[in-house]
Amino acid sequence: MQFEFATATRIIFGPGKLREAGPAIKSGGKRPLVVTGKNVQRAEPLLQVLHENNVECSTFSVSGEPTIQTVRDGAALAKAENCDWVIGIGGGSVIDAGKAIAAMMNNDGDVLDYLEIIGQGKALTKRSARFMAIPTTAGTGSEVTRNAVLASPQHKLKVSLRSPKMLPDLAVVDPDLTCGLPVSVTASTGLDALTQLIEPYVCLRANPMTDAICIEGIRRVARSLRNAFKSGNDPEARADMCVASLFGGMALANAGLGAVHGFAGPIGGMFSAPHGEICAALLADVMEVNMRALRERDNAGVAISRYYYIARLLNGDAKPAAGTGVEWIRQLVVDLGIPRLSAHGIKSEHIPEIVKHAKNASSMKANPILLTDEELAEILQRAM
Ligand SMILES: [Zn+2]
Repeated sequence: MQFEFATATRIIFGPGKLREAGPAIKSGGKRPLVVTGKNVQRAEPLLQVLHENNVECSTFSVSGEPTIQTVRDGAALAKAENCDWVIGIGGGSVIDAGKAIAAMMNNDGDVLDYLEIIGQGKALTKRSARFMAIPTTAGTGSEVTRNAVLASPQHKLKVSLRSPKMLPDLAVVDPDLTCGLPVSVTASTGLDALTQLIEPYVCLRANPMTDAICIEGIRRVARSLRNAFKSGNDPEARADMCVASLFGGMALANAGLGAVHGFAGPIGGMFSAPHGEICAALLADVMEVNMRALRERDNAGVAISRYYYIARLLNGDAKPAAGTGVEWIRQLVVDLGIPRLSAHGIKSEHIPEIVKHAKNASSMKANPILLTDEELAEILQRAM
């Protein structure tokens, strides 16, 4: 057995913790660039803390998922305004944008130099500028990961800027910030969190630390996602989902993912669909086809026993029948109003191209078993 585990330098978790983050913000640097979403209003609690602590800042608003140009613009603004560190407050896209901007503030050249596939794929040489992440959704776990997903509209692709040098210095996870999220966002981000706990748990690079984290995270999603969806202000449900998201981020950063995320990258580049909705629409079918392939071709049987354990965690049944975990997720996805893949404009004719790109995605390489092109196509067809 051998493994490595790295995460954000410091994590502060709890309802109302943003209000207590003043000292950490004061000692963060001279002037932060505050990266927010389209609705700057959501950053108001942070702006107030900055004001109370006499910290002046510049703000940069990101609408939608960050592109390569977003990172260039943000880094240029940071330079023009003499910002020496970054705070990202928002959903996964905003935190990814902030993380990438912080990386480019300290590394020479253009962001394309450091991107795989569409750029030169060079390694970052310097640690990012100090970066503090404050998630306002519970799903991506981006506050503890070492990558930022960036869209290249020109290439119709999403690629990751990735380096251990990009791990956030501080993650402030305050569940109060997720109260009042729209139900559709609670649903899609919550199911992304669940996917990011299931995939690392069954993946080829799972390790004892990520196992423990995944099991605890899955348990919390099972008991709280429906409650967070039904009553958005339920503090316990929101706290559970924030833990689940945080744990999913830790797990994926240290173990990897699987076929759901292998598909989600290319689909997200080709169609404008929220990441969480894509993952949610695929999760049950990926699990089912993975389990069938494992039964047919995997003699070790480790991953299949893990799927049984997931079913146990989800439906609380000590001896779950085969497939009950998959059915539990299918029902949840329906009850939470997640649309099928076809609702995003994905048709049968797109399957060969999606399969071609998904096969080579880094997440696909961690899937517990190598799926054939036919199996990959079958998953997509079923999730339409
Ligand atoms: Zn995800």
